[in-house]
Amino acid sequence: MSFDPYAPPTAQAGGPAGGGGRVHLAGSDLVIEKTAVLPPICIKCGNRSDVRSVAKKFQWSPTWARLMIVFCTIGGIIAMLVTQKKAELLLPLCGPCDARWKAARNATIVGVVVIVAAFLGARLSDDPSVFGVAVLGGIAVFVALMVAYVRPRVITVTKIDDAAVYCRGFSPDAAREMTGYQTST
Ligand SMILES: [Zn+2]
Repeated sequence: MSFDPYAPPTAQAGGPAGGGGRVHLAGSDLVIEKTAVLPPICIKCGNRSDVRSVAKKFQWSPTWARLMIVFCTIGGIIAMLVTQKKAELLLPLCGPCDARWKAARNATIVGVVVIVAAFLGARLSDDPSVFGVAVLGGIAVFVALMVAYVRPRVITVTKIDDAAVYCRGFSPDAAREMTGYQTST
């Protein structure tokens, strides 16, 4: 209804200059090329009404770089910055899924505040066991929030390379339509 991609796919089909990117499945990942124009079907739930095109930014760095933070904070941060890849996709989302995604983003902010508050609060105590319990509790709340609340509401990225974004959390119906979209036009 209110779907408004930057480039109409019918005018761009097959054109490598713009909007010619393709979408395919690789195992459990939906691989969306950065130049792909997606059809107006909600990528989260497969709904076809009230679908709008929403710009979403993603960033990703390899697991080894993220794990390095545990062993060497500065080295890990440098490794993440050097290896980090970013992408922005115009994702088709229906009204309710768009609202759920925004709620997930707000929950992520709350989770970060909980961790910081737990860490700062724990520093007020001289008892090291209080410190450990508070910090671990803060991290546990954050992880639970991410797994149970945030993850089901967003598209998660498993990899980004120069050409494409590998994602999960999509509707199988939407994936089927998207993978056949470019080739059928
Ligand atoms: Zn939806």
